[in-house]
Amino acid sequence: MSYPVTYYCPHCGAVVEIEREGYLADKSVTPYPLEGWTYADPHDSANASYESVDGIRFVCGEMPPESDVGQTETGIRWTGDQSNADDVENPTMTSPCDRTFYLSFVRFENGNEIEPQPDTDQVRIASDTAGPSKPNGPTSPDGPGGFRR
Ligand SMILES: [Zn+2]
Repeated sequence: MSYPVTYYCPHCGAVVEIEREGYLADKSVTPYPLEGWTYADPHDSANASYESVDGIRFVCGEMPPESDVGQTETGIRWTGDQSNADDVENPTMTSPCDRTFYLSFVRFENGNEIEPQPDTDQVRIASDTAGPSKPNGPTSPDGPGGFRR
């Protein structure tokens, strides 16, 4: 039994509605893919139930081609609404924005929920701020102005 669920683009807030299985639990909607998650194209009718994937890769505002299967079959619909949620990156930008975002389902392994790896940007920021800053090499005894010979 599938039913419609709505999400919004984290870039511009464009609201999308998809039909999906009710038992799949959502983890998050992010502007980047989570490490280790497998994403399906929402327009691929072979994946219409999303049972064998970890998430869905959206392109904001993208519709299936007219000649392809209809919206009701792929189960994706851009409602034309724009979310005004606080975590929308840029609510004033043109919507839909054609940018990519990712809906991730909760994954389990051996009964335990898998936590996604942090975004690589966050990892880099964390290591830059943790611990003392690197020394700039030995200070020459005759003071600054180093490369004299
Ligand atoms: Zn967008």
